[in-house]
Amino acid sequence: MELPVKRPDHIVPSYSLTGDLLSYLRCGLQYRFHNGSALPPSRPVQQWFGEFLHGTLELSFRFWQENSARYPFPWPATQKEWAGGVPDWKPHDIGQFADRIENALRHQGKQARSRDARDSAFRRVTIAINQLGPHLFPLIEAAEKKVIGTRPIPTGNIPLRCFSYEVHGVIDVLTHIKLDRVATDNLISESVRSACLSLAGPYEVIVDYKGSQRPLINDSEGYWNHGIWQLQTYAWLRSKQPDALPVAAGILIYVNELTPGGKEMMTLKAGIKNKQTDILPVPGSQDEQIVRMWRLGNSTDQLSLDFRLRRAIRVIPITPESTLEALKKFDDVVRQSEEDIVAEAQNGNILGTWKPNGDEATCDACDFRWFCPSSNVGAQKISAP
Ligand code: SF4
Repeated sequence: MELPVKRPDHIVPSYSLTGDLLSYLRCGLQYRFHNGSALPPSRPVQQWFGEFLHGTLELSFRFWQENSARYPFPWPATQKEWAGGVPDWKPHDIGQFADRIENALRHQGKQARSRDARDSAFRRVTIAINQLGPHLFPLIEAAEKKVIGTRPIPTGNIPLRCFSYEVHGVIDVLTHIKLDRVATDNLISESVRSACLSLAGPYEVIVDYKGSQRPLINDSEGYWNHGIWQLQTYAWLRSKQPDALPVAAGILIYVNELTPGGKEMMTLKAGIKNKQTDILPVPGSQDEQIVRMWRLGNSTDQLSLDFRLRRAIRVIPITPESTLEALKKFDDVVRQSEEDIVAEAQNGNILGTWKPNGDEATCDACDFRWFCPSSNVGAQKISAP
């Protein structure tokens, strides 16, 4: 009897949209070190604030959802108006959600980098829940929606170990036709309508929380575009699911803009000066004066809620053309990553293969800065592995 020849193993590497593709774009070398071997398993770069933010927002949404029949939107303007006194969304009570998430993260070995970072995270999540929550929570259809798909890897001169790859992710929040049913002054609904003028019929909107500031338009680090590619790819992955409606838009929520600190204000002022930011204070307003007069160490508490929310919310219209473009960008990222894997296997040299392209903030927080050839951190660097 003739036995069939065993076919070679067919490898389909798995890439997480945020943990792999965006991490690779943030810094190729850091991504390589975090992944620990020449084969890239999906392991997100551990960022405490991002996980703390996502977890606390989800927990508070679940709590609100269970109680929202008794407290329909729009929420009362003051805490006093809550019949029966629950839920009581004072900072201390929101702290109970936050404590649970913080404990869960601690058990996974993840902690804030400093007391200041922890305090700032608690303050930011409190404002996100109390000031963004009334606009966002009533729109949510599903939270933490998993999406997955496969794509071919573009062809090139270097033979790779695979021809296709799996891409997966978790959509923070999915809304659908509920957008039509919310209060007319709902800021998120308004933002979507003004960015997507031809909206018609039932549709969905994908929301992603970012534990960061609003990037400058076409910033040199690429964060402005990475956000676009991420949401467009989510939209494509979502469109493959049987219960999907057309995705009209994606929304990025830059939580740091809800309570801007020194870094956010410096970026805003630079953006205004260089015409690289799209959300400006209204001319002649108090916000404009505060921004103009702001110096390091000044408070930003007097900035209006409307301005802070507008800075925090970024709507990205989804179209077939823009989705195709984003998919191509990520396909190219996978091609490059796979070529790096081949190169490292051939030359056995990590530092000479993977690109050390972290920006200043990424390098400052990077565990590998002491021996990275690109980092300026540390006068005495240690030997490379
Ligand atoms: S120090 Fe900077 S460039 Fe070097 S690996 Fe870390 S993030 Fe990348």
